Amino acid sequence: AEELLRKSEKLVFAGQLAVSIAHEIRNPMTTVKGMLQLAGKTINPVHYDLMMSELARMNAIVSEFLILGRPQAQVFKDESCRTMLLEALELFESQSEMNGIKVNSEIGPGLTIRCDRMQIKQVFLNILKNALEALPFGGEVDVVMDTAGPYQHIRFTDNGVGMSEEVLRRIGEPFHSTRPDGNGLGMMMAKKIIDSHDGRMEVSSELGSGTTVEVYLPGTE
Ligand code: ADP
Repeated sequence: AEELLRKSEKLVFAGQLAVSIAHEIRNPMTTVKGMLQLAGKTINPVHYDLMMSELARMNAIVSEFLILGRPQAQVFKDESCRTMLLEALELFESQSEMNGIKVNSEIGPGLTIRCDRMQIKQVFLNILKNALEALPFGGEVDVVMDTAGPYQHIRFTDNGVGMSEEVLRRIGEPFHSTRPDGNGLGMMMAKKIIDSHDGRMEVSSELGSGTTVEVYLPGTE
């Protein structure tokens, strides 16, 4: 319990840091935007639009950080991993259907996990959202849950675009994104949350053929 407390304190500290940096960045950004609007007509309209959209992008990242950093203590309780995964899959269903994605799930015996249920569901959703984004023309996502010794093992496989070695190596690095509207925070958050639950995440991928993300979370027994 002490160990868990220490870890959640660390997360809280990182969160506070994120919030103060976000605030510091937001004020000068407002100034720049104001000045840019003033200069509006004197600037090449293409450059003006690009600068405005880059500012909007910065603003989106900063806002995300303010949300991430909002002090939210982790609430650890005994939860059924099966229920959390099924709930995440249910939330994912309408999006996957709309995008022509078939989800095949094989949910075996679930362990009880001492965890923050909202955070663990967030991890599952971040991984599923990435699979969806890797399948712009539809495809399949396989979700398998089984046990690996004392661990609950959940495997997400998509047959999407995959990642280059370089992208794979940098996975979990904040702000590293290959997507035009990505922020590169989804996998970082997933990794942070899993680490704080004494679990681990493994990602393997091949460009053009797909990606597998495996999550291991310790059961309570
Ligand atoms: P974002 O989705 O905002 O880009 P993430 O941290 O979730 O941020 O992902 C970082 C990058 O990792 C993505 O931009 C993408 O290049 C790559 N990635 C993550 N998951 C997958 C996946 N299932 N298939 C292909 N690439 C992926």
